[in-house]
Amino acid sequence: MTTIRKEIKVNGIVQGVGFRPFIFQTAGRLGLTGFVANTEAGVEIEVEGRPENVASLQVELEHHPPLLARISAISSRDIPLKNDREFSFHTSTAAGHPVTGIAPDAAICQECLQELLDPSDRRYHYPFINCINCGPRYTIVERIPYDRATTTMRNFTMCGECQREYLDPSGRRFHAQPNCCPACGPRLSLLDGKGRVIDDQDPLPRTIALLKKGNIVAIKGIGGFHLAVDAKSPKAVRLLRQKKGREERPFAMMAANLTLARRICHLSRRDQQTLQSPISPIVLALQRGNHDLAPEVAPGCDTFGIMLPYTPLHHLLFQGEHPLEVLVMTSGNRSEEPISQDTDSALADLAGFTDYFLTHDRKIHLCNDDSIVTNLGGAERIFRRSRGYAPQPFSLGDKGPPLLAVGGELKNTVCLVSEDRAIMSQHIGDLKNLAAYLSFQKTITHLRRIFEINPQLIVHDLHPGYLSSSWALEQNDIPTLAVQHHHAHLAGCLWENGHTDEAIGIILDGTGYGPDHTIWGGEILIGNQAGFRRFGCFEPMPLPGGDAAIMAPWRTAVAWLDRTFPENLPDLPFLKGHDPQPIIEMARAGINTPQTSSCGRLFDAVAAMAGGRQTISYEGQAAIEFMQAANNRTAPPYDYEITSTTAIRHLSVQSILRSVIKGISGGESTVTVSRRFHGTLIESLSALANLARQETGLTTVALSGGVLQNRLLLTGLRTHLKKHGFTVLCHTLVPCNDGGIALGQAMIGREYLKRTNSMNQ
Ligand code: ZN
Ligand code: ZN
Ligand code: FE
Repeated sequence: MTTIRKEIKVNGIVQGVGFRPFIFQTAGRLGLTGFVANTEAGVEIEVEGRPENVASLQVELEHHPPLLARISAISSRDIPLKNDREFSFHTSTAAGHPVTGIAPDAAICQECLQELLDPSDRRYHYPFINCINCGPRYTIVERIPYDRATTTMRNFTMCGECQREYLDPSGRRFHAQPNCCPACGPRLSLLDGKGRVIDDQDPLPRTIALLKKGNIVAIKGIGGFHLAVDAKSPKAVRLLRQKKGREERPFAMMAANLTLARRICHLSRRDQQTLQSPISPIVLALQRGNHDLAPEVAPGCDTFGIMLPYTPLHHLLFQGEHPLEVLVMTSGNRSEEPISQDTDSALADLAGFTDYFLTHDRKIHLCNDDSIVTNLGGAERIFRRSRGYAPQPFSLGDKGPPLLAVGGELKNTVCLVSEDRAIMSQHIGDLKNLAAYLSFQKTITHLRRIFEINPQLIVHDLHPGYLSSSWALEQNDIPTLAVQHHHAHLAGCLWENGHTDEAIGIILDGTGYGPDHTIWGGEILIGNQAGFRRFGCFEPMPLPGGDAAIMAPWRTAVAWLDRTFPENLPDLPFLKGHDPQPIIEMARAGINTPQTSSCGRLFDAVAAMAGGRQTISYEGQAAIEFMQAANNRTAPPYDYEITSTTAIRHLSVQSILRSVIKGISGGESTVTVSRRFHGTLIESLSALANLARQETGLTTVALSGGVLQNRLLLTGLRTHLKKHGFTVLCHTLVPCNDGGIALGQAMIGREYLKRTNSMNQ
């Protein structure tokens, strides 16, 4: 009988995710001897036995690794036999650089859920049950190496029973750092608005009763507090809107289970998988017509943002007689601030919103908001990449110098690169809020520490006014590189798709600072990570009042109508109720009126002209409602012109507006205008791509920018370009909005360092 021995090395996120117990158990089942050990580089295995059994172990390793493991490389080689008697653990040889990652936080696994609901289990209804396959990770890690003592669980000493599980290599809790039970672990308590204890013995029934009565309860989760109310109670949802001062922006919800989620939304098979994955994000899905939720949850929206319970505590909220079915679960914060994470800060931040806090004594080291995903065109599109994703590294393939990219201003995330991986942070938010800015600094310090990265370069946005840019420039000892906003969008999209050559970028965005000091946002770029040029853009138009115009689309509409029809403003119904004259004077005189090629503003203007939103209460509202009006269909385009008076092609906004106005004056409904307008953008942008192809021979188009969260535009443009022979690249790993630009900045910085370093050699 032949026997062989193999050495197998595994890299990636393989520590703290149950990798060694998995190998131990698999080797035992296959009758193999040898050992498994954590090393500084990952996990090292030696197995000895019959060739077919060794092969089976390798197949298991590749195809069925533990739930939370992320393998980036496996190598194996034959080595001489050692004739061990058994399969064993070797103690960690970890020293020097930890190149294994910290795992993202993961939703409760099926086994833990069963135990949670089993009256005979010692953790029955214990809200902090977890195991090697599930529970908090990133949000509780303070330092490396990942160990109980370096997490916020260090304050809890394991009881004898938990300790036994922790040391048992055959079990699910072997080296599960947050392992705990009712005897030794964190506890829940219900507090009032002043921080006084209402109930710290069994606060759940009381909490559930409060929610059922229509109260708002702040609930501490994995990455911070949520504000929860019963989604079926219009009164409760209205109260939450009023307290939060959030007029219309849709609230995310948590349904008790998949059956209930399906009663509310149309969920594809892929949506259902996404909802039930360890990431457990908020999924955006079309609403069902006959749902029984309060209309105030998502006024004016045709989608809901829905998630499933992802912590044991969430599951327990939906227990009891006549259980709650759907809760609004919105981030516990003021708008655009980071989610509140500590009980003390939550009490201070959220005191005006609620008198009830369901909290606990397991500290959150780093706040982490819920991720948001939509499935579109056969792929996951991430609108917010945070809990469950961060800090899952992207593998870069080859090694390069360490650097830091600090992202944009809104929806900020940062990206750290070291060796052959890029680590994107959790969602940080709008840096203009002090709390977000502090979280930005803390996150950079934290990620630098846990991944041991000393950047040689800091990459920031070209916009000198962004707080991320000024922070970068204040780091005296580290060189910086400014990157144009839409170049970063393009570079990120190309990297995601493994494309290194030049490509045509169609970047449809709200705002980004251009090298010509105007506001860019509807761009046809030619370039890659090494550089870019502007091939074309939307015709620059005036933005009266700058940012003020963003909140009042009618102002943009008036200024653009005046630019297009300077003799005589067409008499359109939307003008009733507005006083156009001051806007016209301001725009004509150019007072506080920057020029912009923004695609987002074009959407705003056309939506307002067609009778849609005149003012908005949250970002993108006018464009979202205008898109919804089309009901997922496009119609034959309006006339448009592409001019090229300079080296840059202009998609003439005035030509589009002239035909739009003709349509509206001829009695076209908002539905028709929206359908034809989407059709126009798809046609005209494809025509621009065609011109770029004729000039450069390039056949690949990358689609990026926040406007491409518009599902009708994204799918329409993608299909149309493909039909015309283009290879079309879209985002699937990071958001197409500004939540993704740190990745593009990082890739541009990496290329820059590689070239400057090689020049210096
Ligand atoms: Zn588990
Ligand atoms: Zn215990
Ligand atoms: Fe952008």
